[in-house]
Amino acid sequence: MTVGAVGAVVPAAGRGERLGPGPPKALRLLAGEPLLVHAVRGLRAAPSVGPVVVAAPTGEVDAVGALLAGLDVTVVAGGTERQDSVAAALAALSPDVELVLVHDAARCLVPAHVVEGVVAALRAGAYAVVPVLPLADTIKQVDAAGAVVQTVPRADLRAVQTPQGFARDVLERAHRSGAPGATDDASMVEALGLPVATVPGAEEAFKVTRPLDLLLAEAVLRGR
Ligand code: C5P
Repeated sequence: MTVGAVGAVVPAAGRGERLGPGPPKALRLLAGEPLLVHAVRGLRAAPSVGPVVVAAPTGEVDAVGALLAGLDVTVVAGGTERQDSVAAALAALSPDVELVLVHDAARCLVPAHVVEGVVAALRAGAYAVVPVLPLADTIKQVDAAGAVVQTVPRADLRAVQTPQGFARDVLERAHRSGAPGATDDASMVEALGLPVATVPGAEEAFKVTRPLDLLLAEAVLRGR
C-alpha cells in the first residue's frame, strides 16, 4: 500500500497538426473553452489528485496560466517531443509527490472514475498502470506497399489511454534512460523491464486528434 501524495503532469505543448490549421491543440475550443481547461477540470474532479503541472506550448506559458486560473496548477514550458514536455513538468512537481499521473490534454473528457482507478492500482502497489479498452476494429499488419501481411489476433490487444500512473521514482528513471520515439510513458517503463498493469479505461477518454473527434467531444459534453 503506497500512501504518498498524488500529482499529475499534463503534456499540452503539441501542435495538433492532424486537427488542421489553427492554434495548438490544447488551446482549441470545445463548447467555448480550451481542451486543456476541460482536461484539467477532469483531473480536479478526481479527489485523489493533488498538485497539477501543465507543460504549455513555448510562448504560451503566461496565457495558459491565465486560462487555468482558479484550477490551482503550475505551468511550465513544454519541449520539442512529448517526452520533453512530460520531463519538464515532472521536474516541477513538488518533492512530496510520490505517485504521478501523466495525462494528455487531448484526452479532455476523461471520467473521474478512470483517474481514481489508476490511483487505486498504484496505491495497491503497481509501479506503472495504464487504462485500456479492447479493440473494436480488426487489426492487420501491412508491408511497405500496403499489402496485408497478416491479421493480428485482436483478443490480446488493448488500446491504451491516459492518465497513466507511475511510482515517481520509476517514471523519473524511465525518462532518464530515454526511449527515442516513445509515444507514451508506460513504454519507457516497459523498456526498463518493469511490469505495467492495466485497469479499465473509458470510451469518453478518447484522444481528440482529428476534426471528427471535436464533434464527438461536443456531443459527449452535451449529453453530460
Ligand atoms: O501528438 P499527440 O496527440 O500524441 O500528443 C499527445 C499529448 O502530448 C497532447 O496533449 C500534446 O499536447 C502533448 N505534447 C506535448 N509536447 C509535444 C508534443 C505533444 O506536450 N512536443
